[in-house]
Amino acid sequence: MADKIFRNGEIVDGSGKARFKADLAVEGDTIVAIGDLKDMQAPEIIDISGKVICPGFIDMHSHTDMSIAYIPEADSLLHQGITTAVTGHCGESPVPVTNHNRSYFRNPDEIKDIDLPWERLETMGGFLGFLEEIGTSLNITPIVGQGAIRSAVVGFSAERPTEDQMEAMQQLVEQAMDEGAIGISTGLIYPPGSYASTEELIEVTKPVGRRGGIYFSHIRDEGDKLIEATKEEIEIGRKTGAAIHHSHFKAAGRDNWEKAEPALRLIDQAVAEGLQMTSDMYPYTAGATGLVALLPEWAQEGGLGDIVKRLSDKATRLKMVASMKTEGFFSIAEWDKVLIAGSSNPAYSGKYISELAETSGKTPYDWIFDALLETRGQIGMILFMMSEENVKMQFNRPYMMVGTDASGMLFEGPFAQGAHPRAMGTFPRFLGKYVRDEKVLPLEEAIHRISGLPAWKLNFKDRGLIRRGYKADLVVFDPATILDKADFINPFQKPVGIDYVLVNGQTVVKFNVHTHARPGVITTH
Ligand SMILES: [Zn+2]
Repeated sequence: MADKIFRNGEIVDGSGKARFKADLAVEGDTIVAIGDLKDMQAPEIIDISGKVICPGFIDMHSHTDMSIAYIPEADSLLHQGITTAVTGHCGESPVPVTNHNRSYFRNPDEIKDIDLPWERLETMGGFLGFLEEIGTSLNITPIVGQGAIRSAVVGFSAERPTEDQMEAMQQLVEQAMDEGAIGISTGLIYPPGSYASTEELIEVTKPVGRRGGIYFSHIRDEGDKLIEATKEEIEIGRKTGAAIHHSHFKAAGRDNWEKAEPALRLIDQAVAEGLQMTSDMYPYTAGATGLVALLPEWAQEGGLGDIVKRLSDKATRLKMVASMKTEGFFSIAEWDKVLIAGSSNPAYSGKYISELAETSGKTPYDWIFDALLETRGQIGMILFMMSEENVKMQFNRPYMMVGTDASGMLFEGPFAQGAHPRAMGTFPRFLGKYVRDEKVLPLEEAIHRISGLPAWKLNFKDRGLIRRGYKADLVVFDPATILDKADFINPFQKPVGIDYVLVNGQTVVKFNVHTHARPGVITTH
């Protein structure tokens, strides 16, 4: 006998095919029947007339990396219908931890309030074993980060690795994959990962290609050199045999908006050539990262201790200002378009740098340097730097998926501060604003992009579609009302229009309330 039957729903099955009206029965963690089930009985029968039932959403770009270990219910993700998060992006997986990077990964300022068995969380196997033990509300699909790998072997220096170090990095990649990682990620604007040459990236990605894994690529430059950086990732895929996934596609900075289309054409050509290349994006015109990313790359070398020294030195500050005018994030930013998100000094949150600098009587540069010193780097920013036209245009590519680029958060409590609204609103915004209101895609195709398509890319055999025998990761929503509510000033707001979110057959969200169920599993294939 089934445990639950959803009656009279509009089934959008994740394949892209037209919706159809049917009942759907769940038993245990599995979809057991689809069709006219009026003779079937179950303890829980739910009439969902007028609502869509579809596969749970797969967040192709999640940063619920370390945080899932202490926020395992990941409310912000579940409330938007996400049932699987692909984590460890932008080079920044929480493992491996070794003597070379432990002091950085275990920065006492950051972890002082977090009680975890840190020594168990130093390898992919240890980390995933811990998650399985505590249980998570959604499924986790892990990636190992190239930045983490490099720091574990070479530390934070910009030096070229020796042959022995190259081999050690490859071995760590192999070990992480043996223990559950599905590929490697890069974040080539963040040191120390950014110190790697193309040749080095090819070498560390070879084990991924050999095992049929994926190269998840936050490219070297999403602004002035978007085209060159896209060519580099394609070359890495071509030379290693790894599938390629271009992370959070964007053309950053007004002067670069026209580069979006030619960059997508490079991906079109790679697909035509037979490479397995895909991409994801978030449906916003602003990005977010740490304020420290405004500093020139050379000024970020060596980790926090060295950065603090440079920020405290007058002559070095002048040198930094000179570099910032020509390279890095700042060269594409405008001070009244950079909003401070979370900060260990809450007085800064929700204000633009132009305003903060003016109030304090400092230049914007000095304000940034002082704020980084004061918060010891614990300060985030939101940059308005993309084009709305491009956001819509990019969804037209058949390989374009959706990712939050955010960690799983709670809506209240000490961790509920400083966020880009994408953390709470990405998927409802995609389906409400872009699909329903602006009609960028038919609903069936939109659901395919966030369920069936990512499941295909990730090699899932029993998720991402509504099929008999598939795992019951499901979302029930009202296509007429689904929408995000989070905005840049008040990001901690739940979306509307989602009635049920099921993970492995268990109800995790019911009418905007998290049930505290933790049915998630590690999904590595
Ligand atoms: Zn990234």
